[in-house]
Order: sequence, then C-alpha cells, then structure tokens
Amino acid sequence: SQVAMYTAKRRSEDIVVYKSDFVTSTPESLSLLSELRRAVTNNELRVYLQPKVSTANHKVVAAEALVRWQHPEKGLVPPYKFVPFAEQTGFIREITKWMISALAEQWQALQQENRLFRVSVNLSTRDLLSPSFPDYVRQTLDTFDVPTSGVCLEITESAIMDDPAFAEQTLAKLSNMGFRLSIDDFGTGYSSLGYLKRLPVNELKVDQSFVFGMMDDANDRTIVQSTIDLAHNLGLDVVAEGVETAEMYQVLGELGCEEAQGYFIGKPMPIEAFLTWREQWQEE
Ligand code: C2E
Ligand code: CA
Ligand code: CA
Ligand code: CA
Repeated sequence: SQVAMYTAKRRSEDIVVYKSDFVTSTPESLSLLSELRRAVTNNELRVYLQPKVSTANHKVVAAEALVRWQHPEKGLVPPYKFVPFAEQTGFIREITKWMISALAEQWQALQQENRLFRVSVNLSTRDLLSPSFPDYVRQTLDTFDVPTSGVCLEITESAIMDDPAFAEQTLAKLSNMGFRLSIDDFGTGYSSLGYLKRLPVNELKVDQSFVFGMMDDANDRTIVQSTIDLAHNLGLDVVAEGVETAEMYQVLGELGCEEAQGYFIGKPMPIEAFLTWREQWQEE
C-alpha cells in the first residue's frame, strides 16, 4: 500500500547531520547525537498530546503535540533534556519530520464527526531556515490525506527573529499552503510587533509565566489582557497555556481568550490515553 511504501521510504532515508551544524563536539555531545539518531531509527520517540479547549463551549478543539523520548535505560526523557541540544546541532529537523509523520499516521484516529480536530506542532528556527521544509511537510501530509488546515505550526518569537526575512518567506509559504500559524510563548522573546503585523499568523499563545502570575500580580494580569486585546485588534485568536486552576480558566474566558491549555484541563498524554480522556471529558 501507499502507507507501507511510505514507511519503508522513511526508514531507508539516511539521517544526515552536517558537520557545520555542530556548535560543540565534545565526547558527550557526540554520544548524545548518536543516541538520538538511534532513538529515531529504533522508534524510541513518543508523541504526547495535550488538549486545548474552547472557553466558550468547553469542547476539546485541538491538541498540542509534545515529544518524549522513551529511552531503553533512562525511561521517559522530557524534552528539556534533548530538544535544546537537538536545536543546537540541527538534529531537531529530524525530530520535527518524525513528529509530523507520526501525527499524519494517527490523523484519522484523532478526527471526530462533523468537526475538524486540529493538531499543533512545535517548529524550531532550524525548520524555518530549511528551504525544503514546507514542501516536505505538505508531501508527508498528502500521503495520509491530512488537510493542511488541520495542522497548526507553533513558532516562538525568537525562532522568527533569528533571521526574520527568511522566516517571513517560509511562513508565507506555509500560510499559502493552508497551515495555521501560531506565535508561541508570546511576550517572552524580542518585541516583534512590527513583524507580527506583517506575518501571516492566525493565533498568539500567551506564555504560561503571565498566566501563572496573573492571579496575584496586577502587572501580569495587565499583560494578559493587553495581549488578548492586541491579538483581537490584529484579527488573531488567543490561546493561553499553563492554565492550572478553575479560577485561571474562568478569568481567561472573561478576558476573551478563545482557547485554554494546561494541567487544569489535561496533562500531555500518549495518543491512546488522550483518546480515552477526550471521550470522558465530553461525557461530563
Ligand atoms: P512549549 O511549546 O511552550 O510547551 C508547553 C510546555 O508547558 C509543555 O512542556 C507542557 O507540558 C507544559 N505545560 C502545559 N500545561 C502546563 C501547566 O498547566 N503547568 C505547567 N507547569 N506546565 C504546563 P514539555 O512537554 O516539557 O515541553 C517543553 C518545551 O519543549 C516546549 O515548550 C517546547 O519548547 C519544547 N518541545 C516539546 N516538544 C517539542 C517538539 O516536538 N519540537 C520542538 N521543536 N520543541 C518541543
Ligand atoms: Ca508550544
Ligand atoms: Ca509555549
Ligand atoms: Ca515554552
């Protein structure tokens, strides 16, 4: 079948990391890199999904995909232990590709009747600076009949500001292909309001630090409110992350934030667990 052929093709593809990508090449970093290569070929990476709900009707409208590494000796390794390293070395491009094909394979299982269920993927600056990235993603999704409108790409301000002109080109391409684009950790990077106006983004994600702070810090509350207003004035939707309590969820709804994500709603879960969780959430 087409799917089997595709999988075989992916497996046989060599994972190449160019020498010029190395920032450091200590023995530790070289062994971590070879372990990461093995992780991809031996299927040790896992997709975890964290729900996003609409504050208007409490429905689960989307999920963010977050990578985990099921290491044979170390157990489940969180992203902070290998994603920054993968970004430095350029290997993150392989992780992103792996993530996108893993999600594409699960796409049908994630869909529900009558409504498009969206999935968000985190991109790094390396993905944005890779000229072949947009076509690669679209081809992968096409293989599994996944519409680009169902995929949201989350990008941090700092990933864009690394090479704003090039990032702008890539984002324009992705937007023209129909992807939804989101600015992650908004408010923590360089101020890029000038770019925000020019970039074809659809959504802003209020950083969790402001969400945590807003319950007892008037300045954080002001930042959250201003971000929501700014986003709406630019025609963008707002997602809040780090929503840990019922009070936060309620306040964000009152401030006009469209979607919420956080431990109060659900933690990141393996796909199977996510599907069970979603059914239970909808029965309540
Ligand atoms: P992020 O994109 O800002 O993702 C949100 C992080 O906040 C996730 O951590 C999530 O588990 C955590 N979180 C969500 N809700 C709450 C909450 O209510 N309270 C608290 N305290 N935390 C919450 P995680 O999964 O450990 O990921 C950390 C970071 O690693 C991500 O931050 C992202 O920058 C990066 N990352 C994860 N997966 C990928 C990936 O596939 N590709 C890339 N490029 N980066 C990834
Ligand atoms: Ca994110
Ligand atoms: Ca974030
Ligand atoms: Ca973050």
